[in-house]
Amino acid sequence: MEKCARIYVAGNRTLIGGAMLRVLGGQGYTQVLREPEPDLTNDAEVDAFFERSRPEYVIVAAGKSGGIALNRRAPATLMTHNMLVAVHLMRAAHRHGAKKLVYVGSSCIYPRLSAQPTPVEALGTGPLEPTSEAYALAKLAGLGLVSAYRREHGAPFIGMIPSNVFGPDDDFAAEDSHVVGALMRRMHDAKRTGAPALTVWGSGTPRRELIYSEDLADACLFLLERYDGDAPVNVGSGSEVSIAELARLVADVVGYSGELLFDPTKPDGAPHKSLDSTPLFSLGWCAKTGLRDALATTYAAAVGAW
Ligand code: GDP
Repeated sequence: MEKCARIYVAGNRTLIGGAMLRVLGGQGYTQVLREPEPDLTNDAEVDAFFERSRPEYVIVAAGKSGGIALNRRAPATLMTHNMLVAVHLMRAAHRHGAKKLVYVGSSCIYPRLSAQPTPVEALGTGPLEPTSEAYALAKLAGLGLVSAYRREHGAPFIGMIPSNVFGPDDDFAAEDSHVVGALMRRMHDAKRTGAPALTVWGSGTPRRELIYSEDLADACLFLLERYDGDAPVNVGSGSEVSIAELARLVADVVGYSGELLFDPTKPDGAPHKSLDSTPLFSLGWCAKTGLRDALATTYAAAVGAW
């Protein structure tokens, strides 16, 4: 990919999209499209944008997402939004001859009780986690569309499946966000108010493989340049933590010294989520940022914005 290639990050205000912009800038790409994004749920607007801007490389980091609470409250909203975004962006990229498109999926598309770490071969082999099923079906449709475009049109589209992502542009709402954003926000507030204890959702025993958003963005560029296969590629950091361990680490980074309580009446979600990223690692990629450093950078960015 030439440093002057025209690159469009769809969803440039999302957690992954924001990281993509920073990493592209850091790696010296000079023509990352900066104009206001079209309404991605509007086919005509998306098409007009591609007609006008002619992106050569398209990174689909767009689409609404959220943690367990939002998934349970707004499944139709999340599913509709993500399906429209995928259909419109792939159709426009194909129509206007993009040289490559990468679609960013989600690890919740794997069956709830998959082997751990989960290889891509596990896709479609069992029931999904019910709390995120609607969102997951939309993301599965997105990856299915990537492979359909490849088969029908020989389109240069690829798919990737990140493990649980966090980073500076995360949603830090106390309730609807993912675990890192939610815990940072609640622990920050608890520290300020001097609260003696803080409640973490669920049992604390679920395990997650977290990946820092800028490492994920780096992997995305790596794949854009070096991968053109049919199978989607898992992108994980290769290390995992329990939610209890994560909560202690976030407390340490935030500087919250109160007691951590676990509320088993809140949903645990999937018991274990980590990806088998061997195919990516054997191409020569690995995550560069340690969990604690990534949490500290994320917290510093969040506090700066609050
Ligand atoms: P997912 O379950 O992997 O889709 O992602 P989440 O980030 O929503 O949740 C991961 C795990 O963190 C689950 O076991 C949650 O029960 C646990 N968790 C603990 N506290 C929180 C919280 O405040 N918000 C969220 N979203 N999850 C939490």
